[in-house]
Amino acid sequence: MSRGYNSTIQRKKKPCKICGRPSYIFSKGRCEPCARVEDTLARDEMENEKIIQEEDLGGLIRDADAIFSQYIRLKYADKDGIVKCFTCDVKKHWTLMQCGHYIKRGHMGLRHDERNCRPQDAGCNEYKDGNIPEFTKRLELESPGITEILNEEMRLPYKVTREKLTQVISYYSTLVNEMKKKTNKQQVL
Ligand SMILES: [Zn+2]
Ligand SMILES: [Zn+2]
Repeated sequence: MSRGYNSTIQRKKKPCKICGRPSYIFSKGRCEPCARVEDTLARDEMENEKIIQEEDLGGLIRDADAIFSQYIRLKYADKDGIVKCFTCDVKKHWTLMQCGHYIKRGHMGLRHDERNCRPQDAGCNEYKDGNIPEFTKRLELESPGITEILNEEMRLPYKVTREKLTQVISYYSTLVNEMKKKTNKQQVL
C-alpha cells in the first residue's frame, strides 16, 4: 500500500499578498479566492480595452468623463461655485478641482457612478494617488458599508458599450446645464 507523496509534503500557510490572510498560496503569492478575482478582473479589463479599440469608443469615454467630472464638482459646490476637497478640505472654485474616484477609473462599471466619486484637489487626486485611506474613512462616515459594496461591485463582470456611454453623456449634460443656469457657478475665477 502506497501512502503517496502528498502525505509527506507539509503545506504551510503564508499571508496572501492581496488580502493578507494566512492561506495556502494558489498562485503568484495569492490565496485561491484572491487569485480568481484578480484574474477575472484582468480578463474583464482586457476585453473592455479590446471593445474600446474595435468600436472606437475612446472619444465617447473622454466626453463621458468630462461631463461627469463637471457634474461631480458642481454637485458639491456652494452657490459661489466653491467646492471642498473630499479628502483634505482644501477649498477652491469648482473649475480648479478634479473628480476623484474611490475605485480606480479602469473599472468601467464604477467609472461614472456617483457613489464612487467626489471632488478632489490635484494634491489628493494626483500626488496622493486618490488619498484612498482618507477617501475610505470619509465615505464610510457618510454611508457605512459603502466601501465594501463598491469593492464587491468592482468584481462583477462589466462590459462597456456605446449605449451606456451615450446615456451617461446625455443624462449628465442635462443636469450640468441646469446647475450652471441656476447659480453663478459658471463663472471662472
Ligand atoms: Zn487572499
Ligand atoms: Zn485634497
